[in-house]
Amino acid sequence: MARAILRGITVSVGIAIGPCLFLKRRRQSIRHALVPKDRVQEESERLARAIEEAAAGFERVRSGLPPELKIQRDILTSQLMICQDRKLGSEAARRIREHRMNAEWALEECVTQIADTFSRLSSPYIRERIEDVRLVADRIQTRLAGAADALFPKMENGIILATDLTPADVAGLSKGNIAAFALEQGGPTSHSGILARGLLIPALVGVLNLGEKASQASTAIVDGLSGRLILDPEPAEIAEYQAMRERFAEYEKKVRKDAALPAETEDGERISVLANLENMVEHPDIASCGAEGVGLVRTEFAYISKPALPEEEDLYQEYLGMVRAAGRHKIVFRTFDAGGDKVIGSRKAPPEANPALGLRGIRFSLHYQDIFRTQLRAILRAGVSGNAALLFPMISGQDELKLAKSVLNEVKQELDAEKIPHARDIPLGIMLELPSTVLISDILACEVDFFSVGTNDLIQYSLGADRDNPQVAYLTRTLHPAVVRSIKLVVDNAHSAGIPVCVCGELAADLYNLPLLVGMRVDEISLAPQSIPTAKHLIRQMRASDCRELLREALSAPSGQTIGNMARLALYNRFPEDSDFFTCLPDTDIA
Ligand code: PEP
Ligand code: MG
Repeated sequence: MARAILRGITVSVGIAIGPCLFLKRRRQSIRHALVPKDRVQEESERLARAIEEAAAGFERVRSGLPPELKIQRDILTSQLMICQDRKLGSEAARRIREHRMNAEWALEECVTQIADTFSRLSSPYIRERIEDVRLVADRIQTRLAGAADALFPKMENGIILATDLTPADVAGLSKGNIAAFALEQGGPTSHSGILARGLLIPALVGVLNLGEKASQASTAIVDGLSGRLILDPEPAEIAEYQAMRERFAEYEKKVRKDAALPAETEDGERISVLANLENMVEHPDIASCGAEGVGLVRTEFAYISKPALPEEEDLYQEYLGMVRAAGRHKIVFRTFDAGGDKVIGSRKAPPEANPALGLRGIRFSLHYQDIFRTQLRAILRAGVSGNAALLFPMISGQDELKLAKSVLNEVKQELDAEKIPHARDIPLGIMLELPSTVLISDILACEVDFFSVGTNDLIQYSLGADRDNPQVAYLTRTLHPAVVRSIKLVVDNAHSAGIPVCVCGELAADLYNLPLLVGMRVDEISLAPQSIPTAKHLIRQMRASDCRELLREALSAPSGQTIGNMARLALYNRFPEDSDFFTCLPDTDIA
């Protein structure tokens, strides 16, 4: 196979070099055959064995995960449950018995029937469950074909290339075994990427034409700095990247050494740098990366793919652990941002043609108030043990905010009546991720204690570009002037009302954007722990006055391309030696 270089989107930084394996979902062509009558029993046993082996595979991976990898373990538990579900096995066995289909065919028919039954429902939850069933069936088919379990290959520092990996697949990858992955699907803020960061595995998504190019490759380099995947690299490139990997490790060591220092510019302006958390796994990393608190806990992640919704006591214990671990630092709990592409528990959103525009975030919580109230009680109760704050996602305007606040007040009154200690004065913030809230941020600023700008969704909804769709990633990755102006407006309105602003979307982790955020006087940024030491290191060497100048130019720039070039140039000029290690604006020519 010839060498090829493909472009992708970095979702987790780092460099990996190693043997690669291309995983194509449902790769086996299913063999259809009728089984002679006297071999029916044997065929049923073959199916049962394959199911058992696949289940053992799930169990093996699950038991190999450390207990802190709670989400990953839960995801594997649900896959194991599907695998062991009597209906799947016994329905397939019935087809073998009654229709004398071979095991592969019988299993395929069962899965098709399950998918057909549910295909009328367009809920993303159902689609994900069908995908889970397919994924489990794939593993059983692999066993029937006598192949090794390709999704959990035994590879020393191997690189997984695939059309797509569900968050469940990513959860099954472990560091040491898998060095990196690259996917054809996915956008810059897709969940698989967010999970990869948690596992500290370099990862690229949106690698166009990957399927076409990768199936024959045997070695790959994932360059999660410049967003490149190199297939079957030349020996000289391998040597070059090995050296680059070492230099990057040195650089990381250097910036980590001073991670505890504050992010204060040379001319004395300070910005707080906090961490985004998806799960407890990342928690140990918080202190060592220099985070000054937790700016965003994406609470819904712990319940994606979980069959049951959490009880108040479970949530309370979970949140209490996090509040205590944060110590004197602030920790901001965002209430479930369920719906859209994130589904929690077994509560099904009604079928929706456009889930991203449907019952998600605070709308989901206001619709399913039992879930909302349970979570609020748990957060308020845990809040007495530390410095917790509360954040509502996807608020679209004042009426919705008022309704959510009235539920919060009722919950506080209930806790009062029950004499249960709770954080009565917990600071309340809202996510600004819809253009509607940007435009009325002056009004909303009088209603809350802080703002948090969710740039992933703000960009998605401002530019009308699906955040998970690689075809439109060119829109979601560039810093469109409308986005710069939106954030600036939010900051100005918040400051006029005397409240602080945090920027917590991935935009803040794109280091090229930092000078603009400093220039706007954003009070806090919250980003993946992985990116924090570098962000603090860079801010310490910036001058706020230069940042202000850059911002002035950006505010009158005509396009994202122009702003991107400006931001790049500014950072390259200021940090000529480090610039190799900054990710990752799209590759635009520097004018
Ligand atoms: C955002 O939208 O920028 C954000 C931080 O929330 P999420 O990525 O979880 O939607
Ligand atoms: Mg969001």
